[in-house]
Amino acid sequence: MISVLEAQEFVLKNAEKLPVITLKLEDSLGYYLATDCVSPLSLPSFRQSAMDGYAFTHTNETRLKVTGQIQAGDLSTPHLKPGEAVRIFTGAPVPDTADTVVIQEHTTREGDTLIIEKLPLPKANVRPIGEQLTAGTQVLDRGHQINEASIGFMAGLGLTEVKVYAKPKVCIITTGNELQERGTPLKPNHIYESNGIMLQNALKRLGILNIQLLNAEDTLDATSKAVHEALENSDVLIVSGGISVGDFDFVQQAFQDNGIEEHFYKVNQKPGKPLWFGIKDDKSVFGLPGNPASSLTCFYAYVLPHLRSRMGSINPLLNKRSAILSETITNIHGKTLFLKAGVNGNTITPFTGQASSMLNTYALSNALLLIPEDTEQLNAGDAVTYLDLNS
Ligand code: AMP
Ligand code: MG
Repeated sequence: MISVLEAQEFVLKNAEKLPVITLKLEDSLGYYLATDCVSPLSLPSFRQSAMDGYAFTHTNETRLKVTGQIQAGDLSTPHLKPGEAVRIFTGAPVPDTADTVVIQEHTTREGDTLIIEKLPLPKANVRPIGEQLTAGTQVLDRGHQINEASIGFMAGLGLTEVKVYAKPKVCIITTGNELQERGTPLKPNHIYESNGIMLQNALKRLGILNIQLLNAEDTLDATSKAVHEALENSDVLIVSGGISVGDFDFVQQAFQDNGIEEHFYKVNQKPGKPLWFGIKDDKSVFGLPGNPASSLTCFYAYVLPHLRSRMGSINPLLNKRSAILSETITNIHGKTLFLKAGVNGNTITPFTGQASSMLNTYALSNALLLIPEDTEQLNAGDAVTYLDLNS
C-alpha cells in the first residue's frame, strides 16, 4: 500500500495537460494561461497627470499665467513657455514642456493668474512612461489562473484573446443498488444518492461545468457498460463506490475489462483507503470509495490536484497551513488521518463524527487536519498542519 505523498505524486506525474485553446479575454475567467503573457505596451504609455491641478515647469516662481487646459483623452498638448501653466486633469497627457503638476487644492486663481500656495517637489504628480511596466516585460507567467484583476490588467494592455488550457469533460458514475434519486419517498433499505451531486458541485467550484452523471447497478455488466460509455465521452472519469472487496464491488474488474491501466490501488490513509487510480490513453480514471466522507476526502487530496494540474495549474494541491490544535488526538492506525475540522483564527478543532459515512460535520468544515501516519499522538497546543478547503 502506498503513502499519501506517493499517491499524490502519482496523480500529479500522470496529469497530462489538456489541449491549448484560444479564448476571448472576457470568457477566460478561471482558466490557466498556457503561455507567458508579454506586455505589448508600456504602462503608462504617455506621461500622465496623476491629479487634477496645473502642469508647469518647476522653478521657484509661484505666480504663473494659465494659457489653456488639457483634458483626459486630448490627442495633442499645448506648448508651454517659461512662466506659463496649463489646467490639467487626472489621466490627461502632460506636455513635454512641463515636468510637474501642482494639485488644485494648493492653488488659487486671480483671473488668468495662478498662485501656487504650496510648491510641490519637481516632477510631482506626473506618472512617467513605463512607471508600471515597460513594453516587452513578461507580466504574467504560464500557469497563472486568470482572475478578475488579471482580466482587467490584460484588457489594459489591449489584449483581446488569451491562450489557455482547456477544461476537462468529466463523467461521474455512481454505483449501488441501494441508491435512490431524490423526489420520492425512500424505498425500504435504500438511501438517497448523494455522492454524485456532491462531486458534481466540487467540480463546479473548480470551474468545471461539462459534467455527465451516470448511475450503474451493482452488476459487472452494468458497471462495465457505464465505464465504457464514460470513457467515450470524457477526459476524466470518477466512479463512486464499488471499489472495495465486497462480492458486489465490480468497479475494479470493469476498469480492467475496459483496458484502463492501474497505477495504484489503496492508500495508507483513513478515511479513503480503497482509492484506485489509472490511465487509459489521455484519460484519467479515479475509483473513489462510496462512503461519502471518504469520497470527498479523496476528491480533495487527489482528484482536485490532478484536475487542476491537467488544466495547467503550477500549484495544484490544496494549500497546507499551520494552526494550533485545541485538543489531544491519538492515531492508533499507523495511517495518515484526514480529520474534518474547523479553523477559527489560529486554532483548529477536529469535529466529533469522523466516521467515513458522516457528511454532517463535513458540511461545517473549512479544513482537513492532517495527522501523519507515523505520528501516534498530538497534544492540545501543538502546531499542526491542515489542508485549507477554500484554497
Ligand atoms: P461501497 O464503496 O460501494 O461499498 O459503498 C460504501 C458505503 O457508501 C455504503 O454504505 C454505500 O451505501 C454508501 N454509498 C455508496 N455510494 C453512495 C452514493 N452515491 N451516495 C451516498 N452513499 C453512497
Ligand atoms: Mg456499493
